[in-house]
Amino acid sequence: MLCSLCPRQCKIDRVNNRGFCGEGEHIRIAKVIKNFKWEEPCISGDKGALAIFFSGCNLRCDFCQNYEISHIGKGEEYTVDGFVELLKSFDFSQYQSLDLVTPTQFSLQILLALKQFKPPVPIVWNSNGYESPEMIRSLASVVDVFLVDFKFCSKELSLKLCGAKDYFTVATNAIKLMCKLKSSIFNDGIMGQGVLIRHLILPGQVRDSLNILNYIKSNIEEPFVSIMSQFTPIGRGGLNRKLTPLEYKTVMSHAKRIGLIHGYFQTLESADEGFVPKF
Ligand code: SF4
Repeated sequence: MLCSLCPRQCKIDRVNNRGFCGEGEHIRIAKVIKNFKWEEPCISGDKGALAIFFSGCNLRCDFCQNYEISHIGKGEEYTVDGFVELLKSFDFSQYQSLDLVTPTQFSLQILLALKQFKPPVPIVWNSNGYESPEMIRSLASVVDVFLVDFKFCSKELSLKLCGAKDYFTVATNAIKLMCKLKSSIFNDGIMGQGVLIRHLILPGQVRDSLNILNYIKSNIEEPFVSIMSQFTPIGRGGLNRKLTPLEYKTVMSHAKRIGLIHGYFQTLESADEGFVPKF
């Protein structure tokens, strides 16, 4: 099968070759973190999520906070059946959700696995937004929550930082479709179903952040957002500093001014290496 799982459309045979995401035919997992509490409270809850970090990435941003797994590719391989067995080995009464982190390059394999066994907690598809409508429609049958990044507005910026000039078009189509497919349902503060749109403010890119917030406000009905300030420089992508207090205040004030009030707003103190998982 030639891979066209995501908008990169590499059309290569993943049994013998690697496409942009760097991954082969089998699921590869870099790390499993139990009772992971670093997602938003409606995802982590009191118990924390069972977080599965997949290897590789179909976006591969230069500044990626999980660079070791997205670019270098570390991890253990699982067939679909092997992944089902792995999921069955966990006691899900101990977790608030199943958090599938950077899963897009294994969309088909994960979909097949979840059709065999769907754990009895909200299934969270924690992705970068660079995804095809066909795959999102298929995933909606097994995924409960789309926790989706909205990274860039400017074509020049997305081309420079992840080689995807069409990121904005692809991601906005993906997010609108996700919102159409999954209306919000909360149970005791936990998101049982819905869409949470994440935006990480980048240093020197306040204008892009403001454009993204404006787009969300104008195009998404009752958006639930997470505005993040935790960017930590990793020495790549030309982004070599944290946010300044003025950049932070400008974006957060704008969110409030235009009425984006439902969701989460990180403090500036969150820009710390403690937010970057060790792999
Ligand atoms: S999943 Fe990987 S190989 Fe397939 S189209 Fe996307 S980037 Fe290319």
